Formats: sequence, C-alpha cells, structure tokens
Amino acid sequence: MAAMTSSGVGRVGVIGGGQLAWMMGDAAKRLGLQLMVQTPSEADPATDVAAELVLAQVDDAAATATLAQQCDVITFENEFVDLAALKVLEDQGVVFAPPLRAIAPILDKYDQRSFYQSIGVPTPRFQAISLASEIDVNFGFPVVLKARRHGYDGYGTFICKTLVELEEILQRPGRSWLLEEFVPFERELAVMAARGRSGEMALYPVVESQQENQVCRRVYALDEFVGGVAGQVEAIAHQILTALNYVGVLGIELFLTANGRVLVNEIAPRVHNSGHYTLDASTTSQFEQHLRAVTGLPLGSTAMTCAGAVMVNLLGFESSASDYAELRQQLAAIPQAHVYWYGKAESRPGRKLGHVTVCLQVGQNRSEAEAIARRVEAIWYG
Ligand code: ADP
Repeated sequence: MAAMTSSGVGRVGVIGGGQLAWMMGDAAKRLGLQLMVQTPSEADPATDVAAELVLAQVDDAAATATLAQQCDVITFENEFVDLAALKVLEDQGVVFAPPLRAIAPILDKYDQRSFYQSIGVPTPRFQAISLASEIDVNFGFPVVLKARRHGYDGYGTFICKTLVELEEILQRPGRSWLLEEFVPFERELAVMAARGRSGEMALYPVVESQQENQVCRRVYALDEFVGGVAGQVEAIAHQILTALNYVGVLGIELFLTANGRVLVNEIAPRVHNSGHYTLDASTTSQFEQHLRAVTGLPLGSTAMTCAGAVMVNLLGFESSASDYAELRQQLAAIPQAHVYWYGKAESRPGRKLGHVTVCLQVGQNRSEAEAIARRVEAIWYG
C-alpha cells in the first residue's frame, strides 16, 4: 500500500485510462500516491502507471463501486460517466473529487451554457433544439449544432451553413442537440484553473489554443498570444471555480472576438490538452496539481520555469500500427523539446498519439514560437 500523504489519502481512483491518466503517473509517484484505474482495455495508455486496474467502461458504475473499495478518493480523466448511478455511490460515502454536484452542470453542453448564463459568465447565444423549424431566427447562418453529450475533439459538433444541412443532421436518430450562434472568433484561449479542498485557487497562465477541423493542433503559452485579456479570463475562471465549489483542475476554453469580448466555449472537469505544456514549463504540472487538489494537499506554484512554451499535438494522419520511432527521434532533436508518446496500439487520422512541448528562452517572440510549431509539424506531417 502507498504511504498516506499528510492529507490521509494514499490511493486515488481514476475513471478513464487514456493519456491524461497516464500523464498523472509521474506526479503520483512523486507524491507517494497509488493510482487505481478504471478503463475498458488493457491496451489503454494509463494501464502502465496503474497500481490496480478495473477493466470496465467508464460509465460502468458497478465497476466504479469495485474501484471505490480500493481507493480513498475517485477522480475523473473522462467525464462520459453515468452520473445518476455514481450519485448512489456518493450517497453511500464514496468520495469523488471533483464532487458530483460540481460536474453535474458540465456533462451536457446545453446544461453547461445554461450554467454560464445563470452565473453571468458570457457565452454564445444558444438553445436546445430537435427540429429545424425551432431555430432562433436571430442566430442567422452559419450556426453550430452540437450533440449535448459525449462530444469530443469536434465529434458531435457541426458547423451548418444552410438550413438544409441543419435539417439533415437533426434527422439523425438518437441524439439531443444544442444549437448556438457561430462566433467569428479572432482566436481561442484556454486556461487551466485549480481549486483545493479548502477553497484556495491557483490559475496557470492564459494560453492561445489553435484548432483545425475542431481538434486542438497547438497551444502557445506566451503573453503575446493572449491579446491583453488575461485579466478578463482570470476573473471568469475564479467565478466558475467558486460557483461550482470545485475541487481539482478544470480546463476552460474561450473565444476572443475581434472587439475584445471573451466568451466561454466550454469547460472540462479534469486535466486538459491545453495544459500539457505545464509538464515541462511549469513549477507544478497540471497533473500534479490535480492530484494535490483531490487528495487535499496544498496547491503547488503555477509559475513557469521558462520564458514560454509551444505545445504541438501529434495527431494521427493515417491508419497504421507504426510507433513512428524515427520521426520521434527527429522531434526529440529539436532544442528544448520534450516528446510524449502515448503508446496507443493504432494510429487513425485525427487521433491524439502524442505531443511535443518546446520551452522558449528569454527573448524568443511570437514569430519564433510559430516557427518552432511549423518545424515540429513539418517533421511530423511531412
Ligand atoms: P468538443 O467538445 O468536441 O471539443 P467544442 O465545443 O469545443 O467541442 O468545439 C470544438 C471546436 O469547434 C472549438 O474549439 C471551435 O474551434 C469550434 N467551435 C465550437 N463552437 C463554436 C461556435 N459557437 N462558433 C465558432 N466555432 C465554434
């Protein structure tokens, strides 16, 4: 058994065993914690760092009950859970961090937008919709249609340019939909925000996150990319953490419009792709911070240890079983580069296979950061 931390928590259950849970591995070791992971397949990335495995889907609450028997606290790396079934466990005394009431408004994209509206946080105009005839005419086209649940990396998000396109998607069976205005944003920002059990908060620097085809391609952690709105974003982050009475790390994604308005797009109740750079560029990584928060340890410093950072996702570009060892070697040869490979058995177009963070030195500016990202992508995508 792991030694207890000063908070009395030694064993952390993690629902979900993908790369996010895998990247908690080193921090868990450092903090003297054991990770117990619930995930469907032995081939999933986090099985390498798990002291114990419960092989089951993430929404299998009976499996979570088994996990709970081995853990002091249970957290999430994947929010596609069965909340009502977990609530039964919470009522029986199982400790979840973040607590279930904090993730309840987040799991459904319509509920999320309603939550922002209720606390006065700016968000795109939206409505629940099941027929094209219900569309709010004020939105105009294009509009954005999103599956209310289980969307990720753009799966479940459709930008519709015409009513015909919208009607075609709405006719697909089995999903409930959120419709929202298309925001012609100037850029997308993100911030990782942490709140401890006793209510203390710590924010990481605001970053720019760039998506292509609705999937994150790269993240720039450098003030120049943030458009002078860091203060606005930080105020929103504090407001959300407080309103949710949150415990753990939370990823917040935002739109910045041409006239300097900041709107929240979505939040993720867990560590997040836009915080991967913290592994190499921050005093405390988002993974360590999350474990600290959920086990009741004091939060660590979010200060950067270098002048800035560029994080580039390595997305699959073909169906293959290759481990791309040679390309990874070339990437590792870039000065100040840190290459992470998630060890997935198969590559598919768009799948997140790994990422590279390059730490910036004092004096390196926006154009140099962009050149670094281009260099990484030229090696990876050819
Ligand atoms: P997912 O949960 O699949 O990541 P998101 O809501 O974050 O879905 O959408 C993915 C991407 O699609 C966003 O990062 C953004 O680039 C684009 N997008 C989403 N909603 C809007 C919107 N209302 N207006 C413009 N672009 C949007």
